[in-house]
Amino acid sequence: MAKFVPDVTTNRWVIIAEGRQKRPQDIKADDATSKKICVFCPGFEKLPGEELYRIGKGAAYEPGWDVRVIKNKYPITDFHEVIIHSPDDERDIDRLPLEQTYKILLTFRERFNANRDNGHVLIFNNVGEQAGASLRHPHSQLVVVPKQIGIDALALEPIQNIVYDNKHFVTYCPDFSQWPFELWIAPKKRQQYFGEIDSEALQDLAKVLQDALRRVVSHLSSGEHYHPGMPMVKFKDGPAYNFFIHFGVDWYIRIIPRLIHRAGFELGTGLQVNIVDPADAAQIYSEEIEG
Ligand SMILES: [Zn+2]
Repeated sequence: MAKFVPDVTTNRWVIIAEGRQKRPQDIKADDATSKKICVFCPGFEKLPGEELYRIGKGAAYEPGWDVRVIKNKYPITDFHEVIIHSPDDERDIDRLPLEQTYKILLTFRERFNANRDNGHVLIFNNVGEQAGASLRHPHSQLVVVPKQIGIDALALEPIQNIVYDNKHFVTYCPDFSQWPFELWIAPKKRQQYFGEIDSEALQDLAKVLQDALRRVVSHLSSGEHYHPGMPMVKFKDGPAYNFFIHFGVDWYIRIIPRLIHRAGFELGTGLQVNIVDPADAAQIYSEEIEG
């Protein structure tokens, strides 16, 4: 069971979740050739954990689903869910049909609202070993943090350095970017929680999120070093990035490519060094694909 430990002088907390180290790992650098069972693939529904929700056909624990939500067997907190993006073992949001991305977002909204009374609902996605993914099959996670625990997250940053813009959303690289090439998606309608988004805007979000991730994956796959001296991470298993949906009011999606490691200065000061100007990042993303 998770333990919440407060810092004595600040409003920060640490979560001690010992059981997490037992979780299975299928991502290994030298493992590319060995084909193992994937418990998130159709046919293995009875293995990974209690089924909470599905979109698509079939009874619980049977194939036929389009998106499937299960309890995480190795939880960070009391409420920890895994959202399996599709039956497809390889293709993720950037390459799945738009309709499937919409179903994933419908599921995000459904589970956000199902968990709202339990605390702060954080939905996040880890892709690649450097981004903390332990199972390769595309999936996101939902973790509920108790209301009394303070979360050290940024509020929505002002809109600058726009990459893409449509009716309901704007994609941009905020001036306050702590990571090289981070990319934000902000709704034009403010003062809402993610769970309050209507279905028309959700259709739009599917397009915008797919577009943003295509730009990120395309940039990370290009292998172009924007700054010659930049200590770039070498991706062992394809591009690595995280994204998360802000839990609070005035929600946003923040996509963070894992191009660099954080080092001693940053750990010692809490100050982040970003060697790529967000205005330049926005320019490069604008040219990455046709929007
Ligand atoms: Zn799989």
